[in-house]
Formats: sequence, C-alpha cells, structure tokens
Amino acid sequence: MTRRTPPTPHVPPALKRRALELLTLLEASYPDARTELEYTTPFELLVATVLSAQATDVSVNAATPALFARYPNAAALSQATPEEVEPFIRTIGLYRGKARHLVALSQLLLERHAGEVPNDFEAVVALPGAGRKTANVVLSNAYGYPAIAVDTHVGRLARRLGLSTNTNPDRVEQDLQRLFPQDRWVFLHHALILHGRRVCVARKPLCSRCTLAALCPKVDVVQAG
Ligand code: SF4
Repeated sequence: MTRRTPPTPHVPPALKRRALELLTLLEASYPDARTELEYTTPFELLVATVLSAQATDVSVNAATPALFARYPNAAALSQATPEEVEPFIRTIGLYRGKARHLVALSQLLLERHAGEVPNDFEAVVALPGAGRKTANVVLSNAYGYPAIAVDTHVGRLARRLGLSTNTNPDRVEQDLQRLFPQDRWVFLHHALILHGRRVCVARKPLCSRCTLAALCPKVDVVQAG
C-alpha cells in the first residue's frame, strides 16, 4: 500500500491543544461515528462512494441494494453498458456520468487489479470517477488506511472551528493531519460529517446547542441558530 508521509508538525501549541480538546468532545458526542453509506465489500463501498458525489447518502443507500443485487462485483459491472446501469441510479444526481464511471472503473479493476479494489491510494485515485476524497473514504473504511477525506462538511467545519483557513480540500486535509493523531483521522472525518449534518449545518449552524461551542471561534458564521 502506498502511504503518504504525514506532514511535519509546525503548529502553535495552543491550537494543537484546542484541537485535541475538540477531539475529546467529538468522541463524547459521536462515539460510534462511521460512514452512513451501506456496503458489504470494498467494491460496494467504492461504488457507493462514487455515487455519493454531490448526492446524499440516503439517496445512494436507497438505490444500491438493487444495483448490487444485479451487479455484485467488478466482473459483473464491467460487462454492463452505462445505459443498462442508468435505471438503477436514476434517482441520484449526475447519474449518466456516474453510470459511465462505474462501468469504466469496473473494467479497469479487472484489467489491472484482478477485479479487486486495490489497497493502494494512488491506484484508487486513478480509477474513473474516483479522486482523492473517494480514495480516502474507500481505503480508510475498507482497509483501515489513515486518512481524512475532506468533503463539504469537513471543510466547512474545519474553517468555522479555526482549524484551517484553506478552501482547497487537499490543504484542509494537510492542516487537519498536522493537528490530530493519525489513529484518530478516520474517526475525525466521520464525526465532523455527522456534526456538519446535524448541528453545524451550512446555512444557519445551531451554535446555541452545539457541544463544541465553548471551543469554537465560529469563523465566518454570520447567522447562528
Ligand atoms: S459553535 Fe456553531 S460554528 Fe462552531 S461548530 Fe458549533 S455549530 Fe458550528
């Protein structure tokens, strides 16, 4: 497995302390934080993660049981045409492009990786429809790879919490990696997503009932609930 070297920590001690205190609060609030995508194999997780781009996990979970029943692995999906896959995912945004990606990535998995999802970051990033976030989600959940996948929730919370000033997801990921112990990266990713969905929502964050409020500078929060 290709592993990236964790960035060298050059972090103000007070910021690091506050980050670790936030981590403690998140662990208390979301002790069982995990992905809400439903899957039983690394291949299913890869497919669900590709489908989840700009779509809700709920919409993906509603579509995948029938999709996985018809195409349970890369070998089966590689034989399909995108047009045959489309009806299974029509309720998910951008379904035409995603159908093309799913067939293409299945063919590539067969050609290069014996039909299995490789336990290799660069190899997953190279799959059609995947990217850095998908690779982080798939490898961290399927193989325990230490990663912080930065989606819209993680990025927004990192900035509001004063843990990053960056908008580029790769930079946010590096900022968070500097602040938190590697063995908590996967947890942090899931906990921030849950907090972003339930409390620190995009439009009007619920600061008045947020368990992190005492430690949060609320950067760029204009209107709070
Ligand atoms: S205090 Fe407000 S801005 Fe800060 S994490 Fe909580 S909900 Fe988000």
